[in-house]
Amino acid sequence: MEWEIVMGLEVHVELATKTKIFCSCTTEFGGAPNTHCCPVCTGMPGTLPVLNKKVLEYAVKAGLALNCDITRYNKFDRKNYFYPDLPKAYQISQLYLPFARDGHVDLITRSGKEKTVRIHEIHMEEDAGKLIHSAFGDATFPDYNRCGVPLIEIVSEPDFRTSEEVIAYLEKLKTTFEYLGISDCKMQEGSMRADVNLSVRPKGSEEFGTRTEMKNINSFKAIERAIAFESARQIEAIEKGEKIVQETRRWDDNKGKTFAMRSKENAQDYRYFPEPDIPPISIEESTIAEYTAAMPEFAGEKVVRYGEEFGIAKADAEIIAGSKYLAKLFEETVAICNNPKEVRYWIMMQIMYFMNERGVAPEDIKLDPKKFAQFVNIVAADRINKQTGKTVFEAMFFGDDSFDVEAYIKENGLEQVDDSEAIREAVKAIFALNPATVEQYKAGQTKVVGFFVGQVMREMRGKAKPDTVNKVVAEELSKL
Ligand code: ADP
Ligand code: ZN
Ligand code: MG
Repeated sequence: MEWEIVMGLEVHVELATKTKIFCSCTTEFGGAPNTHCCPVCTGMPGTLPVLNKKVLEYAVKAGLALNCDITRYNKFDRKNYFYPDLPKAYQISQLYLPFARDGHVDLITRSGKEKTVRIHEIHMEEDAGKLIHSAFGDATFPDYNRCGVPLIEIVSEPDFRTSEEVIAYLEKLKTTFEYLGISDCKMQEGSMRADVNLSVRPKGSEEFGTRTEMKNINSFKAIERAIAFESARQIEAIEKGEKIVQETRRWDDNKGKTFAMRSKENAQDYRYFPEPDIPPISIEESTIAEYTAAMPEFAGEKVVRYGEEFGIAKADAEIIAGSKYLAKLFEETVAICNNPKEVRYWIMMQIMYFMNERGVAPEDIKLDPKKFAQFVNIVAADRINKQTGKTVFEAMFFGDDSFDVEAYIKENGLEQVDDSEAIREAVKAIFALNPATVEQYKAGQTKVVGFFVGQVMREMRGKAKPDTVNKVVAEELSKL
């Protein structure tokens, strides 16, 4: 039988406000355990939460960017449960009136398929702390620094059918929130965490199967593997006549398997009730109009503009606009040197290489657009060739603030030689060194021309202008 995978995602995103959602403690990642805390976020009796206005602003902007209806009158609810990382024994969240509903995200997958995923709702809530389990197995240390860090939880409809769609969705959320400036969405630091709900059904069936939920898988690669494993496990079980149990399963990336963690709680198990300590929130029309007007240019719009304004091919534009940081570098550099094609070339050839092969993250790129533009002008003026350019670019990219492009070229004698006489000397020297090859040429083997050009370039230590070398080699050969 042919099976279809059905998935819905619950994505938690930490908002990049300076302070926590209900107190003024810092949200900074890390820090010595329990140093970013106060009586409010550690749940001391008698304390009262106060909503951070910036959290509401960031949340509403996220809702608008994901095409949601913003709930004009919304409120918080208490979700009651005891766990050592939650000292209040309840989490302030939103159940009945989440601030955003009925949105959608348009995606293009890696293989070019278009897809729209519906957003069921987005709500605001506070994060819990972290538990550090002793390596010796006899103790657990709670760290409450993360308690009260603001989160939004984005709940999708069960619209995903492939892991490719899931990855495209997470990437889209990441770039969208980066451009909005509301989160850095770093999966490895836990500021974006995805729970994947997954069921399978016979292809063509309308009904959904029983789902399992895989929590907090922390990389795109792990998500792909977890989906492959869990769907195969469910199909195998059903084909054997077993029933799927609705439960939460833990993905073990080392073992490459999911394991049952706990049976799934229902909303009623949490004894939700309206949060009495925080008044309801009312969002003004003028606020929504203001945020809507201030939306930044997102990746999709940039791709179109890069094509129209700069003649950049769609595939390249998607990569550049896919990161706020690359897009910024591209646009600022082009604004100075006015040479989009050449700027594109160095981003695609060198920066992408550094990102893929050396693990450089786009947000960590320190390259100054002024220097990049200066470099592009030097290459465009043919003062260094592309090969030498790679060396210079690398030194500039990884260099510090004091790196000076002109000085580097001068000190290393990298400027291109366009002096025909110097090149002619080199050509003659190469002929003299390779009499047998010269004879081959005379005998009609014209393919040795490339060999001579290569040797001359080497003799000139890569600095000779290739056009001039070609010309002079041809001239000298014709004299033989
Ligand atoms: P709960 O509140 O119990 O977690 P929800 O209805 O909020 O359940 O759904 C949680 C997530 O699970 C949503 O993203 C939803 O799209 C997804 N989901 C619901 N039913 C299924 C199913 N049968 N198969 C896959 N995903 C599902
Ligand atoms: Zn606090
Ligand atoms: Mg849910």
